[in-house]
Amino acid sequence: MADDRPSSVASDDPTVSARLIGVVAARALDLAFPARCAGCGAEGKPICRACLPALDARLNLAPGVPIGLPASIPAPLLQLEWCASFSGTVRRALHELKYAGEQRLATPLGVAIARRWRHAGAGGDIVVHVPVSSERLRQRGYDQARLLAAVAAESLGLPFVDALERHRMTAPQFELDRSDRAGNVAGAFRVREPAGPAITGRWAVLVDDVATTGATLAACAEALLEGGAVAVSAITMAREG
Ligand SMILES: [Zn+2]
Repeated sequence: MADDRPSSVASDDPTVSARLIGVVAARALDLAFPARCAGCGAEGKPICRACLPALDARLNLAPGVPIGLPASIPAPLLQLEWCASFSGTVRRALHELKYAGEQRLATPLGVAIARRWRHAGAGGDIVVHVPVSSERLRQRGYDQARLLAAVAAESLGLPFVDALERHRMTAPQFELDRSDRAGNVAGAFRVREPAGPAITGRWAVLVDDVATTGATLAACAEALLEGGAVAVSAITMAREG
């Protein structure tokens, strides 16, 4: 697996410097608390080498929807791809990334998203994420989908754009029936004003941790198209249902 972290410390580019500070902080954290593999619990890495293939369960499958899942891709998404089913190692890893503060998981998971997109994705020239609400961001201190999207973008060599905001509170999708989910998130997202020029005329690849019906991704896609994007595709780490 390629290590996407920059190797040189000498740079005047403020973006690179900020990223390096993040890398240094992550390494300091590594030293303080060795990661435990989300798959098997072995100490060392957030996902050990033996458990890593679980992230690539669908890597070599053809793009598209296998038998047994709803065949339609929710409009206006052009494509909906995912890396693995929401179970086992992947489910535990996403849970730890989201609820246990294990942000180091964003690197192997984000790189796996990039691998799947490279194999199955068509088009795309910017990467955006499905944002959590500002309230959730305050509670958690970070946005797990943003971390995944930033890693995936870097791995794909595409710009990451912090394009969307969730401006209306929504009930957690898992609390709702499938049929109520689209109504819950419709109109909940909008393009952040400073991001307008960066998405105008672009084909956006939306990244999120888990998709079920795809209603949240579709609501984000509506907002991006309204904000000037010409097309929107999506990829998530996992899919359930
Ligand atoms: Zn393991």
